[in-house]
Amino acid sequence: MKIYAFGVRDDEKQAFEQISDQCGVEVTLSDETPSLENADLVKGYEGVTALGMGNIDRDLLSRYSENGVRFLSTRTIGYNHIDLVAAKELGIKVCNAAYPPNGVADFTVMMILMCLRQYKQALWRGQVNDFSLQGLQGRDMNELTIGVMGTGRIGLQVLKNLSGFGCRLLAYDVYKNPEAEKIATYVDQDTIYKECDVISLHMPLFDSTYHIINHETIAKMKDGVILINCARGGLTDIDALVDGVESEKIGALGMDTVEGEEGIVHEDRRTDIISNRNWFYLHQFRNVIMTQHMAFYTKEAVESMVRCGIEGIVQMEKTGSCRTMLTK
Ligand code: NAD
Repeated sequence: MKIYAFGVRDDEKQAFEQISDQCGVEVTLSDETPSLENADLVKGYEGVTALGMGNIDRDLLSRYSENGVRFLSTRTIGYNHIDLVAAKELGIKVCNAAYPPNGVADFTVMMILMCLRQYKQALWRGQVNDFSLQGLQGRDMNELTIGVMGTGRIGLQVLKNLSGFGCRLLAYDVYKNPEAEKIATYVDQDTIYKECDVISLHMPLFDSTYHIINHETIAKMKDGVILINCARGGLTDIDALVDGVESEKIGALGMDTVEGEEGIVHEDRRTDIISNRNWFYLHQFRNVIMTQHMAFYTKEAVESMVRCGIEGIVQMEKTGSCRTMLTK
């Protein structure tokens, strides 16, 4: 079995070497992002593994299929960059990764604390020897109501992490998670908006969740609400976020993922002119913390992502299915 691996970073290479040896597969590593321009690189490969960058749409999948690809794995949990309907029609089996939720959940709690304690401003000031306190007053976590939207693997772990802080925990999901029910109270969406001081998003990006945070939903929130997005940028309408911060309806944003991040995050753009105005405008506010889509990025997760990427393909080839198969 031959697998073509796209988007490979240096820090993944050792894991690729070890895991491909263990699985007895031949893997070709490439740092390119999947696109129509490089679609013929996969000729002669039955499996392709990719990360979250690049739009793996019907056209690209058709080319992969013509080139003999039968299996595709994304080494990410999110799979909104892959057209699953087209993959199924073309007979390409697709799976995603299911690495431990701890890294993203830990990062989320760090974002909440950084927002609550005005840490972006404190950090900036410290760098120019300004050690004043004015404007840096924060809030105690145990006085707050925190809402988690999407209580799957990551949302549940966020709730578990937060349960030690003594805050009131509310949850919203289309399905109730029995484990989350032990820690948090499930409420409807409007109650989350009305009662929460902090709202953290942990649902996948689907048509049904696209721009779930928009002008209308922000209007229902408490004044000074803190919004955290360590899931996918498309869950929040960037125009609504900008308006919310400008009007001070939003007290702070902690965003690991923001609409329009493609081509910016995971790149060194220091010497480039970057034209994404909204992304950069949002980035400059004193109370907006934006990180480079890095909540997943721990030693443990990277190893597991590579393992999921290879083992998923091997399993689908051997048995026709795997635990995280998306094209059932
Ligand atoms: P999961 O599938 O375990 O959980 C997702 C939850 O969202 C499920 O409980 C599901 O019922 C719920 N959901 C689906 N549609 C909903 C809706 N309309 N309203 C409310 N809830 C809804 O996934 P997970 O492992 O917890 O990951 C969640 C998301 O986090 C991923 O889809 C991915 O986009 C994102 N993610 C981001 C990073 C990062 O580095 N920032 C890393 C990993 C995952």
